[in-house]
Amino acid sequence: MSSTTNDFDFQKFSSILDKSRKQSKKKEYQCCIPGCNEVALLHSHLVPQSALKKYICDDKHQLIQNQIDEIHPMVAVKTGEISLETFYTIGISEAMSMPIFCKKHDNDLFCEFEGDADSADPYNPRFQILQALRAIGALRYRESRLLEQNTIKSSLSEFYVGGVYNDESQMYQNLVHRYDSTISNLYKAVETDDYDNYEFVCFELEPLKLAICDAFIDDTDLKEHIMDDEYSIPVKALYINMIPKNNNSYLFIGYDKKNVSNALIELLGKWKTAFKDGLDIKVLYVILCHCSNNWCISPDCDSRIIEYLYNNYSNDRMDVIF
Ligand SMILES: [Zn+2]
Repeated sequence: MSSTTNDFDFQKFSSILDKSRKQSKKKEYQCCIPGCNEVALLHSHLVPQSALKKYICDDKHQLIQNQIDEIHPMVAVKTGEISLETFYTIGISEAMSMPIFCKKHDNDLFCEFEGDADSADPYNPRFQILQALRAIGALRYRESRLLEQNTIKSSLSEFYVGGVYNDESQMYQNLVHRYDSTISNLYKAVETDDYDNYEFVCFELEPLKLAICDAFIDDTDLKEHIMDDEYSIPVKALYINMIPKNNNSYLFIGYDKKNVSNALIELLGKWKTAFKDGLDIKVLYVILCHCSNNWCISPDCDSRIIEYLYNNYSNDRMDVIF
């Protein structure tokens, strides 16, 4: 049977997506700290490594992390042919890492919380804000990489030049600017040691072999401010973190009091009620559905969480994202 034009196009399409994905990963990205022109470390970590090693990893030092498969066309994801999310087992040195900070900033900002597995304190406002900085830095990297992928795609095929592809690139660029403003505020708080603009709640839960460093952005806010000429308004977000320490897992969720929506406060209110008397596995799972991809679990994490994730996560994420 001879191949049709459609077959050919699909192969070409997949090949270009694959190339752009691989090449964009090799690019050197700049450190996200305002005014820093250094190249970011390839593996700037989102969670203190010593805590991951001591409390979360199995002895193979491996973690499971999920990723949105960027190769597949979204149309196949929407019809349910392919799942949106894929789980990968990743070694400890690469898990929960991406180019966010340069070597100097990575060391200077985080060394006091990396000394040993118990150096990080989930109740310490400085640590809370630094984790929020990591989370937004991670989201900023994701948009920067998507922007880079579009540049590569347009250099490989005229199909990707102009029109909706320009609009898409512009949107990624605008989001990077809004993340820059958010990072600038967080970094100012760290520099001045003044955390009054931020509010965090911390839940002391049973040990879970799960770590999170992520942020949930209010979609409505993104749509409302899409016409903002400067794209300099910080994003409205909940900063969602979980770290293990001693005999507990600590879930700490916070926000910038000047940049938060009622919807986010309501959501946090619901979660507070749910965790009033300890861990609610279903609600924790819902929180993971609201996160992007910056969390990891041990292969021998609580079987109830593993079950939810493998059976439902991709579908449930679709409901949250689309
Ligand atoms: Zn730097």
